[in-house]
Amino acid sequence: MKIQTRIAQVGVGFDRQFGAVSVPIYQNATFRHTALGKNLGYDYSRTGNPTRRALEDGIAGLEGGCRGFAYASGMAAITSILLLFRQGDHLVVSDDLYGGTYRLLVQVFERCGVRTSFVDTSDLDQLEQAMEERTRAVLIETPTNPLMRITDLARAAAIARRHGSLTIVDNTFLTPYFQRPLDRGADLVLHSGTKYLGGHNDLVAGLVVAKEPELAERIALLQNAAGAVLGPMDSWLLTRGIKTLALRMERHEQNALRIAQWLVRQPEVGRVYYPGLPEHRGHQVCRAQATGFGGMISFTVADFPLAERILERLTLITFAESLGGVETLITHPARQTHSDIPESKRLELGITDNLLRLSVGIEDPDDLIADLEQAIRGR
Ligand SMILES: *Cc1c(COP(=O)(O)O)cnc(C)c1O
Repeated sequence: MKIQTRIAQVGVGFDRQFGAVSVPIYQNATFRHTALGKNLGYDYSRTGNPTRRALEDGIAGLEGGCRGFAYASGMAAITSILLLFRQGDHLVVSDDLYGGTYRLLVQVFERCGVRTSFVDTSDLDQLEQAMEERTRAVLIETPTNPLMRITDLARAAAIARRHGSLTIVDNTFLTPYFQRPLDRGADLVLHSGTKYLGGHNDLVAGLVVAKEPELAERIALLQNAAGAVLGPMDSWLLTRGIKTLALRMERHEQNALRIAQWLVRQPEVGRVYYPGLPEHRGHQVCRAQATGFGGMISFTVADFPLAERILERLTLITFAESLGGVETLITHPARQTHSDIPESKRLELGITDNLLRLSVGIEDPDDLIADLEQAIRGR
C-alpha cells in the first residue's frame, strides 16, 4: 500500500478484543501472569506496553524496518543507540547537526571513551578520509540542522559498510513521508518524535527503527536495560499525530517553498538555505533520494541587530525553539539550539549571529509572508 494509506492506518486493527479504532491507552505498569513463565504478551511496561507497541510497530512499518522503539525524547533515543558502543570506539558524525546531539557526543560520550570526528558528510571524500580502524558508526543528518546540507545516503552508507561500520540516520527533518534511509542502505533510523511526527508542539518523544533483526535484538536489550521509554499517554498522542503526517508534510513543503522564493527576492535577506530551491547545493541529491524537501528554511539578514529586531517584531510567527509543528516558529540557532557548539566551530560552519531558522507551519502562506515582511522592513 502507498505511504499515505499506511500513515493514516497506523494503529488501526491493533485492538483485537473490542475493535477500538483508536489504540486504547494502556495506562498500566504491570501485567498478570497466567502461569509460571506465561503471560498474555506483556509483563512490565518498561519492557513493553501495548499502546507503545502500536506506535513502535507503526513507525517500523513506515520506515521499512523490522522493529521500532519509542523513547522519552529524541535525545533518549540517540543515547540508547550510542550505548551500542564502548571505550575506544570511534564515530564519524555530520558536523552541522542538532546541537543536543553534539553536546551528548562531546560532553558525555567522549568522557566514556567513545571518540567522534565531525565532518561535512555531504562531501564523501571527507567522510572517507575520516574513517578509522575503530570506526563503528557513521551518524548522518540530511538535511542538516540548520544549514540544510544534503548527504548522498546510498553512497555514504556504502562507504560505511566497506569499513565495517553501521550507518545511522537522524530522519527528523524529512520524516518517512519524504525520505526512507533504510531503503538506501542505512542500518538504523532515528527521530525526535517531538517534531514533525508529533506535529503539534504538545509532546516530547524519540523513535528508533532497526532494519535487521540482529541489531533490533541489541537495541531491545538497551531500551529495556536503560529504560528511557515513552509512556502510554504520550505514545497514544504521538500515534494520533502521525496519522495526519502526509497532509501536514505536503502543506509544510508548499508553504516553505513559497516563503523561500519570497525570501530570495528581499534585499535585506542574504543567503537562503532551502533544499527545494534549484540553486541549493544539495538540491539534485535531495530530489533523487527523497520525495520532498520539507518545511525548514534558514536565512541570513544583514547583521545581528536586524536579526534581533526581526525576532522582536514578529507577531504571528512565534519566537520559540523546536520545529515541525503546525504553528510557524523561528529560532536564532547561534544563541539557542546550537549555543553548545564552540563559537569558532559555529562560525566555521556558517552558523553566524545573523542566521535565523524558520520552521514553516501550515498556516496561510500569505499571512506568514506579511508577518515576515513587516518584521524585516520594520513597518
Ligand atoms: C529536536 C531534535 C533532536 C532531539 O530531540 P528531543 O525530542 O528534543 O530530545 C534530535 N535531532 C534533531 C534533528 C532534532 O531536531
